[in-house]
Amino acid sequence: TYDVVIVGAGHGGAQAAIALRQRKFEGTIAMIGEEPEIPYERPPLSKDYFSGEKSFDRILIRPAAFWEERGVAMLTGKRVVKVDPDAHTVTTEDGETIGYGELIWATGGHPRRLTCSGHDLIGVHGVRTRADVDRMMSELATTEKVAVIGGGYIGLEAAAVLAKMGKQVTVLEALDRVLARVAGEPLSRFYEAEHRAHGVDVRLGAIVECIEERDGRVAGVRLSGGEIIEAQMVIVGIGIIPAVEPLMAAGARGGNGVAVDEHGRTSLPHIFAIGDCAMHANAYAEGLPIRLESVQNANDLATTVARAITGDEEPYNSVPWFWSNQYDLRLQTVGLSSGHDSTVTRGDIASRSFSIVYLKQGHVVALDCVNAVKDYVQGKALVTGRVAADPTKLADPEIPLKSLA
Ligand code: FAD
Repeated sequence: TYDVVIVGAGHGGAQAAIALRQRKFEGTIAMIGEEPEIPYERPPLSKDYFSGEKSFDRILIRPAAFWEERGVAMLTGKRVVKVDPDAHTVTTEDGETIGYGELIWATGGHPRRLTCSGHDLIGVHGVRTRADVDRMMSELATTEKVAVIGGGYIGLEAAAVLAKMGKQVTVLEALDRVLARVAGEPLSRFYEAEHRAHGVDVRLGAIVECIEERDGRVAGVRLSGGEIIEAQMVIVGIGIIPAVEPLMAAGARGGNGVAVDEHGRTSLPHIFAIGDCAMHANAYAEGLPIRLESVQNANDLATTVARAITGDEEPYNSVPWFWSNQYDLRLQTVGLSSGHDSTVTRGDIASRSFSIVYLKQGHVVALDCVNAVKDYVQGKALVTGRVAADPTKLADPEIPLKSLA
């Protein structure tokens, strides 16, 4: 039995343990994680870890010694399959039962898989774990053509790395633009053009019918209409399914993830949830219940929960932020653009340094800043203040955003 058991040794889990110790929590802490590794950063998996620029050691959230020194028991390579809120225990796949005082559920999600034939062939990859990416890397030497299914951030980042390696890459996006779920049209069109300029074949409105096989391996992707995109590797980036089955089976409320209140509490006593798997009312989504998939959200919710556990509650109220690196483009996003009714382009898109400002009824709700760090830093205050700003001023890069706050 531990005073705090954290299930999931990823971004949220790691930050929860760090924040508890920073707040002088002296009880026992155990972190149970399904992966064999101690917590590491996930964003580099589709960026500089995949490209080989960063070794695994360099993406660890903390070195192994840190967890030992802080008295955090790392129970890695164990999957929790059952939660018993009455007995205050969790049970792992291999039958071990571990007691808790407080439970923090930080399991993220598993990549959504295709359901068509061939989805499980050798050479078809989801991108969520180090093991996924190591498998992809081990196949690169014999791979010339890659099909990326899904034009979201992860798919596009992987496509950028592969294009730079000289692979022949096709991105298959079902909708009529890339990044449709997360960004406005001007940004989508910009990234589409960038990928094309780097030799990536971007196919929009591409509906996957099945994965083609040859000799037990993937050979390509068949589209509805019959066209076959030849590929020795297929990367599937079509979202995640929150890993909350044991909590739901224990009676937790939720649907798309497990529902938590502003302190990260689930509907089950002494059980909190954080990160990608936690559905929370977000102030920047007009208080609507959403899940956010970002390091910021995992870290900040973790800190919120550590505060609740140490008796210094503060409701979750962080402004969402996110980043994506593709080629030499550094995108930084602040706020949530969903629900915006107009956009302003700030700067010249052709210069490859610009920002898209998202407005709702005249108020700034989000910015996407491409190679525009200053806009990102200064624009944050416009988002947190929901500032009503003059679109012509917003559009003028000569006028600093901080002067509009
Ligand atoms: P995770 O970090 O996924 O940790 C969850 C852990 O729980 C995993 O190790 C999982 O194996 C484990 N687990 C699951 N179920 C169980 C179980 N039943 N028992 C035990 N353990 C379990 N975010 C950004 O902000 N910027 C980016 O640029 C960015 N790029 C990304 C690129 C990639 C390729 C990926 C995959 C994600 C990226 N993200 C990015 C998202 C970010 O990594 C996640 O939002 C973040 O990791 C969420 O943290 P988490 O703690 O909720 O989940």
